[in-house]
Amino acid sequence: MDFQLTLAPMLERAGTLYPRVEIVSRRPDRSLHRCTYLDLALRVRTLAGALIAAGLQRGERVATLMWNHSVHLEAYFGVPLAGGVVHTLNLRLPPQQLAVIANHAGDRFLIVDDVLLPLLETFIRDARFERVFVHRSGQASSDHYEDYEALLKTAPDDGPLPQLNENDAAAMCYTSGTTGDPKGVVYSHRALVLHSLALAMADCFGVSHHDSVLPVVPMFHANAWGFPYVATLVGAKQVLPGPHLDAENLLDLCEREQVTLATGVPTVWMAVCAALDKSPRRWRLAPGLRLAVGGSAPAESLIRRFDAHNIRLIHAWGMTESTPIASICHLSPSLGEMSEDERYAIRAMQGTPVAFMEARVMSQGGAVPWDGKTMGEVQLRGPWVAASYFNLPELRDKWTEDGWLRTGDVVTVNEQGYLRIVDRTKDLIKSGGEWISSVDLENAIVGYAGIREAAVIAVPHPQWDERPVAVIVANEPKPKPEELNEFLAKRFAKWQLPDAYIFVEELPRTSTGKLLKSALRDRYRDYLNGRFSTA
Ligand code: ADP
Repeated sequence: MDFQLTLAPMLERAGTLYPRVEIVSRRPDRSLHRCTYLDLALRVRTLAGALIAAGLQRGERVATLMWNHSVHLEAYFGVPLAGGVVHTLNLRLPPQQLAVIANHAGDRFLIVDDVLLPLLETFIRDARFERVFVHRSGQASSDHYEDYEALLKTAPDDGPLPQLNENDAAAMCYTSGTTGDPKGVVYSHRALVLHSLALAMADCFGVSHHDSVLPVVPMFHANAWGFPYVATLVGAKQVLPGPHLDAENLLDLCEREQVTLATGVPTVWMAVCAALDKSPRRWRLAPGLRLAVGGSAPAESLIRRFDAHNIRLIHAWGMTESTPIASICHLSPSLGEMSEDERYAIRAMQGTPVAFMEARVMSQGGAVPWDGKTMGEVQLRGPWVAASYFNLPELRDKWTEDGWLRTGDVVTVNEQGYLRIVDRTKDLIKSGGEWISSVDLENAIVGYAGIREAAVIAVPHPQWDERPVAVIVANEPKPKPEELNEFLAKRFAKWQLPDAYIFVEELPRTSTGKLLKSALRDRYRDYLNGRFSTA
């Protein structure tokens, strides 16, 4: 049977079989908005009809500038069901970059939260949106733009929606720009459907209709890792936090809506863990709560600390180019008997490729041995791995000639096929011809009492080419360099230890909360040959 794998039957199923399951959204004024999958299915259909009536042609882009809430979810389905491509703009990017991205993507319409109108005003003059529709939460008013609800009213009653092909483009995201300018990645319906199925599997995130899913990862970052689609596929309750992403609000929401699965980057979970450590009995969380973590590596100590609260951190790895989930870390029977420390060491790894994802680790043209030691670049192939960037033919060499995506992540593989990210190619430190992993040093340094965050960067050195320097955020009293060296010397060779420890108030981060090491490298470029100034 020819059955197209598109988002349409996913939504249809949720609306038919789970009509009363709720989608709960935190509004800007902190009140909660509730609707159901039946409401969602009806409003999505209406949005798709209205966009077609507004002249949206197949493959055209509709941008969103929104927090996580049910109207954003409507756009996740409504734009693709109209035959269009939903392009989520990352509201944390500098405004000028947003205009460049919207123009590069050729976004025709924009749907924007009223609370984000001040942001829109900063770049709208440079962007080329034909129409702008404002989702009003009552927080801010504007007569400048059209009203989103008024757009919905223009939908014809029961107009036909286009027949979709599974290879049609459905969604689009730009990378977060940690290692260069953001680049656009387009996802087909098929990619999103298969990615959802893989994520729902028991050995992946095991998402089911028993779950209450809270994506803290913004819906403007790599599709919120695909969780709004997965939750809809299985008919799970969705809890969308709006703009309120601080630890207390998230924990309140987890308690109130009995969240069983939440997703976020390590910085979010670090704050949540600190709040739990401070008041362990304050929140009555759902038993068996699991937290998916990715985007950057969580420290092993964070996994341990959450275990102490009976909350399981599940570590996954991926990138915008791979929709994004590529690997997940679970303890499989193939690992055999292990000590507690060994188990934690494995859980901090990026794990094994998810179903249908193929990974190979290459160094100098050949595959590296699975010895847990030899480093190489991990390359990917699979049904939800992009084959190119949107309108950037000059970046073709991101893919190998035989069709694999070069991730730019340097890893080792252990005997059982578990990947461990050692660094990004651009962050590895080359000292006297030997590679030093900045990630390994960072993970160890944050294990020292009182150290909150650490970034280890390569700093040019006249003799060794590059040497590691650690930039640290720590509580008072700050540790002395000798104390840190002594602590690290238990795990690292002497030549691997940082040449200097620099204490700062905060570390620079990208729009998605990752360490912005390029900024630190620029700042401390001359640190080791004495020309550094604190200005
Ligand atoms: P950008 O490349 O601009 O940061 P992405 O959001 O696509 O944008 O980031 C993907 C990258 O994030 C990966 O290539 C990897 O370097 C890093 N990353 C993602 N998940 C993890 C993880 N679990 N551990 C370590 N690094 C990760």
